[in-house]
Parts: sequence; C-alpha cells; structure tokens
Amino acid sequence: MEPIPRGGMPNMKLFKSKDTKLELKIRKPLFARGLRYRLYNPQWPGKPDLYFPKYNAVIFIHGCFWHGHDRCKISHIPKKNESYWRQKIEKNKERDLRNQQYIKKHNVRVLIIWECAIKLKNIDFYDVIDYIEWWVKGQAQSTEMSAINPMPTFNF
Ligand SMILES: [Zn+2]
Repeated sequence: MEPIPRGGMPNMKLFKSKDTKLELKIRKPLFARGLRYRLYNPQWPGKPDLYFPKYNAVIFIHGCFWHGHDRCKISHIPKKNESYWRQKIEKNKERDLRNQQYIKKHNVRVLIIWECAIKLKNIDFYDVIDYIEWWVKGQAQSTEMSAINPMPTFNF
C-alpha cells in the first residue's frame, strides 16, 4: 500500500473496510424486515456490502470522500496534498464505475447509498430504510440515493 500523507483524513473507515457503523446501522433494520443478504460477496467486483440473491440486487454503501461523491457537502478534498487525493479518488471513482457496469451487465441491479444520505439527516433515517426495502423488493432499476438525490426514481 502507498504511504498516506498525514492530515485531513475524513472517514477513512468508510473505504474498503467491513462492518462499519454506517453499514451496521443500515443492515440491522433491513434484516429485521425479513430481507436476507450476503455480505461482501466476492462473486461481484468491488464486493458489494449487501447482495440480495433472491432479488438480483446489490447495495454499495459509499463513503462520500473516498468514493468521490460529486457536489457533496462532506466530500471536500483537503487542501494539503490536494493532487495526491484527487488522483487517488479519481481512480476509486473509475473502479467503482467499472464494477457497477459489470454487475449491471449480469442483470443484477445496483443501489448506491451515499454516506451523506444518512449523515446529513435531511432525510429521515426510516425513510431511507423504507426506500431501500421498496427498491430491493420492487425490482426498481439501478440508482443512487444521497442527500442531493434523496428519493431517486430514475436510472443512472
Ligand atoms: Zn455525499
């Protein structure tokens, strides 16, 4: 692994680590509503946080900084070592896109839940959970949910 410069490291845990608080927060109520999923299934590139085989669907829970959420209030690139971070995050974004395209090509739907959808609290948490349940069970098409796009109804 490349050395990481010091200073300005928002939410490092939300990149490539398992069982983060945010993931658990989302997983628990979904399980309680009877949704069954596999965690970090290696069958799919990027090992989606949740895979619902019964519904042909995966969910990625994305940290806004590490996955480069555009126009997001909580994904500012630190001024220190700015070009380092820009490059790194650009690579992450390209890889995310490739992974999502691959999964969709195999007729599995993809839902991205951005960190800010939960953290910024402009959407009620249980509305987020309701949406996810609806999306998984209802065969809605691939989309993403964030503070910027709280109740998505369109494709991306
Ligand atoms: Zn965001």
